[in-house]
Amino acid sequence: MDIKNLPITDNHIHVDGKRGYGPEKVAKIFRSAGGKTLILLNKPSFTGDLTTPMDTLIRDIETIRKNVEGVKVFGLVGVHPCEITTMAERGKSLDYIKEKVIEAINYAGKLVEEYDFLVGIGEVGRPHFKVSEEIWRVSNEILLYCMEMARDIGCALQIHGESASEEQFREFRDMARSVSLNPEKVIKHHCGDNVLEGEKYGIFPSIIASKPVVEAAKKSLRFVMETDYIDDLRRPGAVLGIKTVPRRTRKLLEMGIINEEGVYRIHKENIEKLYNVDLD
Ligand SMILES: [Zn+2]
Repeated sequence: MDIKNLPITDNHIHVDGKRGYGPEKVAKIFRSAGGKTLILLNKPSFTGDLTTPMDTLIRDIETIRKNVEGVKVFGLVGVHPCEITTMAERGKSLDYIKEKVIEAINYAGKLVEEYDFLVGIGEVGRPHFKVSEEIWRVSNEILLYCMEMARDIGCALQIHGESASEEQFREFRDMARSVSLNPEKVIKHHCGDNVLEGEKYGIFPSIIASKPVVEAAKKSLRFVMETDYIDDLRRPGAVLGIKTVPRRTRKLLEMGIINEEGVYRIHKENIEKLYNVDLD
């Protein structure tokens, strides 16, 4: 099955010019497998410097745009929830942390308004491991602030969360509604087979491009696909590889689980609607 002429989008991928292949090589590897569109998100700094990763992401996107023909690239900027726990471990007070993160989110909002290729706020949310009640509370307050920001700008938001089950979909829907943000603009990153929860609550699932996506595609085409590739050569195999979304999509076609129309739905129409972009 030839996917050369089909749209293929990885909805959550990181590049790292210091530790990994870097933007240009990642984009070329993706393209060589049939990939067409990358949605990049800044990595956490883990140093408490919350805005430099956003500036780096902008440069990385510009590098791909300049040097890699045939790959479209967009980005989301945000403060990874792990930054909150990292700063707390370093003895920073929660008041200080909240103020710093909000400042950085304000900066992210300005960037999204300034750069056409920045299409949302993310990844933001809550740590995926157990944290104290106070950190949980502050994380939720910050997430709510991000939702207000996305509402004001009219952009998408990608949530990093502890897991993806019906409970999270309901909760994130309620949070979005509480600030009048359309849940259809809220993407839950790193989902398993959560298409039915997505349909029920409006939150949009971004599904890991391994086994869960096969199950998901049997039930609904209302999802996007991602690898969550982190581009760190010291951690090979820690995450799915750069070619996984194109390969998995080809597999789905070969297995007869989706047809070409389905590919267009998942990789083009859903992405266009989420991010207000044109992939033609
Ligand atoms: Zn990520």
